[in-house]
Amino acid sequence: MDLKKLNQIIKSAENICARDGVRFTTKRRDIFNIVLHERKALSAYEIAEKLRQTSKTSAPAMSVYRILEFLEQRKLVHKIASVNKYAICAHITCNHEHDMPRLAVCSNCLKVEELASNTPIKQELLASLDAIDFQLQSQQLELIGLCSNCRRNPHKPKGGC
Ligand SMILES: [Zn+2]
Ligand SMILES: [Zn+2]
Ligand SMILES: [Zn+2]
Repeated sequence: MDLKKLNQIIKSAENICARDGVRFTTKRRDIFNIVLHERKALSAYEIAEKLRQTSKTSAPAMSVYRILEFLEQRKLVHKIASVNKYAICAHITCNHEHDMPRLAVCSNCLKVEELASNTPIKQELLASLDAIDFQLQSQQLELIGLCSNCRRNPHKPKGGC
């Protein structure tokens, strides 16, 4: 990702926090940056470890979780329930509302990429679920598969990308 795009994303994240009347504190920003710069989804533990390495400040796992929750509430990051890890939102600089995030999850290396598509599907999906009297808990689609890298190198061990 080029620097201009990165700066736009950070600016948008600041605007989203300002809109909600909440502070984009140094620690929130540090954690946001870690998720932003990593292409693979990260667990809260991995994020805490990277925070310790990069900013030389440590945060207990509990406070990392709270900050991730904060970022998730503002749709700056997504929690991928199927792997219990976090990835950056691909629509931070967009002006449209999220319909339902579509997250492509590689089952081998756990790389997660949110699709650019935002075609409305939520309403129709909810109506279909209603028809079978099913109450949805997840508000996003996790699409499990294999990324191009893992398909080319099928024998790489898990997490080896
Ligand atoms: Zn998103
Ligand atoms: Zn978008
Ligand atoms: Zn992969």
